[in-house]
Amino acid sequence: MDKKKKTLIGALAAAIVLVIAFVVYITCFDYHIEFSGAFDKGITVEYGNKFEMPKIKAYEKGHFINRKGKEIKCTVDSNVDETKVGSYEIKITAKYKKKTKTQTIKVEIVDKKAPEITLTGDAETTVEAGSEYADPGYSAQDNYDGDLTDKVKVSGDVDTSKPGDYKVKYTVSDSSDNDAEVTRTVHVTDTTAPEIVLEGDDCVMIKKGDKYKEPGYKAEDNCDGDITDNVTVSGDKVDTDTVGKYTINYEVEDSSGNKGTASRVVRVYAPAANVNANAVNPGDKVIYLTFDDGPGEYTSQLLDILDKYNVKVTFFVTNTHPDYQNLIAEEAKRGHTVAIHSASHNYGKIYSSENAYFDDLDEMNSIIKAQTGSDASIIRFPGGSSNAVSKKYCKGIMTQLTNDVTARGLLYCDWNVSSGDAGETKNTDTVVQNVISGVQQHNVSVVLQHDIKGFSVNAVERIIQWGLSEGYTFLPLTTSSPMVHHGINN
Ligand SMILES: [Zn+2]
Repeated sequence: MDKKKKTLIGALAAAIVLVIAFVVYITCFDYHIEFSGAFDKGITVEYGNKFEMPKIKAYEKGHFINRKGKEIKCTVDSNVDETKVGSYEIKITAKYKKKTKTQTIKVEIVDKKAPEITLTGDAETTVEAGSEYADPGYSAQDNYDGDLTDKVKVSGDVDTSKPGDYKVKYTVSDSSDNDAEVTRTVHVTDTTAPEIVLEGDDCVMIKKGDKYKEPGYKAEDNCDGDITDNVTVSGDKVDTDTVGKYTINYEVEDSSGNKGTASRVVRVYAPAANVNANAVNPGDKVIYLTFDDGPGEYTSQLLDILDKYNVKVTFFVTNTHPDYQNLIAEEAKRGHTVAIHSASHNYGKIYSSENAYFDDLDEMNSIIKAQTGSDASIIRFPGGSSNAVSKKYCKGIMTQLTNDVTARGLLYCDWNVSSGDAGETKNTDTVVQNVISGVQQHNVSVVLQHDIKGFSVNAVERIIQWGLSEGYTFLPLTTSSPMVHHGINN
């Protein structure tokens, strides 16, 4: 072999060795570790959602020839706590032969959910001006922080003295700075009418010829305060020279258009006879029989009995049985005294106010006047002046009324002998017995009976027979008779 050939073979052998060495290198020594996924941006998980560990595989792969590679085992080191908001890391480490590769994945557990504010009561509510407004309450819950009620801030005042719409704002933030806001609208409305308070009495009794002076008034409103200056006064002009009833109206309006009204009645009267000056002692053993609540079904029968013995009595009449109204004229014609009891005899109505009482009294008097031609001057209060039932309708009214009727020169007469026919008995014999035993205890007796009760009317003849036989005198009440007065209980 020549020298040239030798050199060529040598070079060729070297090349073959190199190729073999290269093949051996890339198949046995050229490798790196590669992960199946990259998480450069990290992983963000909303708190409450399930966190799943990323499934990452590691392979050893060649450089020059990108072969499929062989999967190699990874070790995962994670500090992720999905129950707590925070930043975490997952370290995945793969080892192959002498090489190690690590991938770090950043994990964020975040809370982006805002807390929730729940209002107690309505989100829109209406309160009356002048009343107290108290927040009905609220609560706040957060998916991460739990109960945040204590952290809620409330802003916006409700001024119940001024009608208008008010917004109350409730705000709260959670530990991740998520904000919540809820608003409640409160409408302050004024539907309360102003109040007019009359100074002095709402029922003024004034003697004919005396001077009348407006006693004054005040007007108060829940929002506007004192609005006395805005009161308008209208109605009748009081003429104290003319007997009658005068009504004065007071009206005021607040800034919300609510109206308040009041009225006062002025009664101009001409005084009648004065009882104390004119009363004379009627003598001993006198019986004043009095019959209340008629005329009615049994009144005619009673009038005939009285005629039979020429006994004169007193009828305290009503208009509760209007069909018998004409008997009022008959009572007067036959010499009896017609006196006022009540037109309606309705306690709830007549004892509700002085005005109501005098309206009823005036009505009865006008019926009497139409029947008899003259005004009645004696009255008897339904239930007597001592009744306590009137307390239910108006406190102190009997005290007022007894003063009023006296000022008007009317005489009121109660009784000192009760027949018991108002309720205790329905028996004629008992009525006779009650009257006889009652009369024996007094020198001058005023006996209470009711001519709308047949069993009581049936007792009258025996009472008269007994009285006459015992030397009693029966008289009708007149303005010079002594009046029996009970004690006032209201
Ligand atoms: Zn009565």
